[in-house]
Amino acid sequence: MSEVREADLLIAGQGAAAFASALYAARYQMDLVIAAEQFGGETAIGGMIENYPGTGDIDGFELMMKFKEQVDKLEVPTLNSNVVKATKDGDRFRVELEDGSVVNALSVILAVGRERRKLELPHEDEWTGNGVSYCSTCDAPLYRNKKSAGVVGGGNAAVEGAILLAKYAETVYLVYRGAKLFRPEPILLKVLDKTDNVKVLLETEVAELLGSDEAGLTGIRLTKPFEGTDELTLDGLFIEAGADPRLDVPNQLGLEINPDTDEVHVDRMQKTNVPGVYAAGDLTDGTDLKQTITAASQGAISALSAYTYVMEHPSKLGEEAEPVAAGAD
Ligand SMILES: Cc1cc2nc3c(=O)[nH]c(=O)nc-3n(C[C@H](O)[C@H](O)[C@H](O)COP(=O)(O)OP(=O)(O)OC[C@H]3O[C@@H](n4cnc5c(N)ncnc54)[C@H](O)[C@@H]3O)c2cc1C
Repeated sequence: MSEVREADLLIAGQGAAAFASALYAARYQMDLVIAAEQFGGETAIGGMIENYPGTGDIDGFELMMKFKEQVDKLEVPTLNSNVVKATKDGDRFRVELEDGSVVNALSVILAVGRERRKLELPHEDEWTGNGVSYCSTCDAPLYRNKKSAGVVGGGNAAVEGAILLAKYAETVYLVYRGAKLFRPEPILLKVLDKTDNVKVLLETEVAELLGSDEAGLTGIRLTKPFEGTDELTLDGLFIEAGADPRLDVPNQLGLEINPDTDEVHVDRMQKTNVPGVYAAGDLTDGTDLKQTITAASQGAISALSAYTYVMEHPSKLGEEAEPVAAGAD
């Protein structure tokens, strides 16, 4: 017989958005549970974080450990299993986990992030954070005064990444398989044209990542020679091929998806179109700035929304004090 527990709130995820929402919800004294198989999310695997205020330069894994420790202090239970199914069941949400257990929750916060599109080349995972990156906004400054960096992709993120990296590295190679860049904003193309130290390699793919486990990535082999060679020596490679929000559970719950971005649509209080269900972090269309700080901020806001909802839930009315007004600290 699988374990069934009741809760005010189930939080799906163990990344920045999930831990921030857990911290706030626990401080509102909600009866909550966190569920996710993997600790830390993208922050934990992203290498050095230099832009999270107050921590100085910190390894992403260590930063997420700090998030978790603060939540653990409040004795929030963590179930190390992913959500596989979520449905509305009467006035509750029935949330099934991969390990067979079930949580019947009055409210749900989804903070399950996105799946980065990868090149699926050998060593890509091992060298992530050691020469391979998926986020130029985050890691470009690490390439200050470096000789060369590569960017793979042809859309807005790739072009923006190349332009940003060109402020730091001596030479930037933008590698794209198409015959022309994939509909980047015209203004970006203009800036790219004027950025002399970006070399655009079209109809070219990355055939192989070069390097070693000790040094990390040191270069790439191309499918088509460029300036007489098919090998580029690089200090780093940014894979900007896009990311797909994890929509399985949102779709099961009938959440509205933003047709332009494929992200879960939320309002400024992280509410979805389904009362009692909130979403936070990279999964959502709450902001274009997908960062640890914005994920944490959205997590905190979603906790307030879930708290307000639960306090006004029919099963709670009469049992608790006045609901907290939005914006209360
Ligand atoms: C290489 C890299 C470097 C980065 N560097 C920086 C940086 O320097 N500074 C910065 O601010 N940001 C950086 N970012 C961005 C930052 O990591 C993300 O914006 C942030 O992690 C988003 O947090 P999140 O909680 O929304 O999602 P995530 O961190 O992706 O967490 C999602 C969580 O959900 C879990 N999950 C997935 N599916 C399920 C399921 N079915 N059920 C339950 N749980 C599930 C995952 O295991 C994970 O725990 C970087 C990102 C990358 C990829």
